[in-house]
Amino acid sequence: MSAGELEALDRRHVWHPYGAMPSALPARVVSEAEGVHLTFADGTRAIDGMSSWWCACHGHRHPHIQAAVAAQLARMPHVMFGGLTHEPAVRLAERLVALTPEGLEHVFFADSGSVAVEVAIKMVLQSARARAAPGRPAPTRLLALRGGYHGDTFGAMALCDPDGGMHRLWAGSLSEHVFADRPPGGFDAPVDPAWVATDERLLDRHAGELAGVVVEPVVQGAGGMWFWSPAYLPALRELCDRHGLLLVLDEIATGFGRTGALFAAEHAGVRPDVMCVGKALTGGTMTLAAALCTPAVAEAISAGEGGGLLHGPTFMANPLACAAALASTDLLLDGSWEGRVAAIEEGLRGGLAAARELVGVADVRVLGAIGVAQLDHPVDVPAATAAALAEGVWLRPFRDLVYTMPPFTSTPDEVAAIARAVVAAAASG
Ligand code: PLP
Repeated sequence: MSAGELEALDRRHVWHPYGAMPSALPARVVSEAEGVHLTFADGTRAIDGMSSWWCACHGHRHPHIQAAVAAQLARMPHVMFGGLTHEPAVRLAERLVALTPEGLEHVFFADSGSVAVEVAIKMVLQSARARAAPGRPAPTRLLALRGGYHGDTFGAMALCDPDGGMHRLWAGSLSEHVFADRPPGGFDAPVDPAWVATDERLLDRHAGELAGVVVEPVVQGAGGMWFWSPAYLPALRELCDRHGLLLVLDEIATGFGRTGALFAAEHAGVRPDVMCVGKALTGGTMTLAAALCTPAVAEAISAGEGGGLLHGPTFMANPLACAAALASTDLLLDGSWEGRVAAIEEGLRGGLAAARELVGVADVRVLGAIGVAQLDHPVDVPAATAAALAEGVWLRPFRDLVYTMPPFTSTPDEVAAIARAVVAAAASG
């Protein structure tokens, strides 16, 4: 089928993310993805400056992941997970326990990041219910940060930034959680005692209603690409401990090296009670996510009403996805990601400096393999996309943000091209 025919059929039948039906603009047809490159149906290529929504950390079609998935496909693409188990799931669970912060011992696999967040919410609420004193109502609310994003399912949406639009649209249908301001300052900011005191008062005011705190550690992604200091993580841990709350870290965007640490929690050595991973877990090969928890959480849930965690997706722990995740984490285990991410950080810092000089650019920030140019107005997405493509780079800006999360395998020249594309997109949008 020609690219034109595919585009026309796509617009007639296929609904794209956050889009109207039919969409105002056609989607570009990609025919191939290899390494850091996407090849479009007209034969042109572009560097995937988004790592395909932050997943393809080793670039596309990495041979080690390809081989692992092919071998698994030949043996067993899928079996149900109720009453059955398999080596890829067992080995991946063991691997995740070893890689993630100490104390997380148990792994619940989910199909996507949003579903992992739903599972984490269930873990917190079910364990609070199990711990509630007899005759006392169990807490049903969580505390989350303004500016956050945790997914598009109803439980996850309820934790997203309350001013972000979703809450207005879904008022009456979403759980009503409690929101704290995001920690002030950037990655290097010292802890502001006023923020801690305000949160302490918030927790006191809602004592008895709250079961846990859910945050994206250090980088808030789709809620605004905000960076905050890891120094706040121990403060949050302490607040949770003092108030008897579980701490949930949503590392779906930050996990697997993106911020310069394998997990953002490691910037501060903080141990969460529950942690969500997803996105780069399979190196961008296919969907898989997980919620991990401590034995204390698992024991409370297992001893409580229901006798276990009440969740069980059809494609839970899909063997192909687990094989991809094992292969992707193999690639991280050799440690070379660290130097690559540091080099990307340096390249983005140098390359994005030019964006600071542009009229209409409010802020430029870089952390690990994340570069952001924030405008003082909404981005003209078609103009910004075209400007990036003219530099040979695929970017997908949103709201007032032009940003990149390059594959870790990007060469210095490719990082320089990505930075030029961000600057060009910021200038055009
Ligand atoms: N949590 C965070 C921090 C995310 O960035 C995302 C996706 O962007 C999600 C959850 C939802 O993940 P998914 O899109 O796989 O459902």
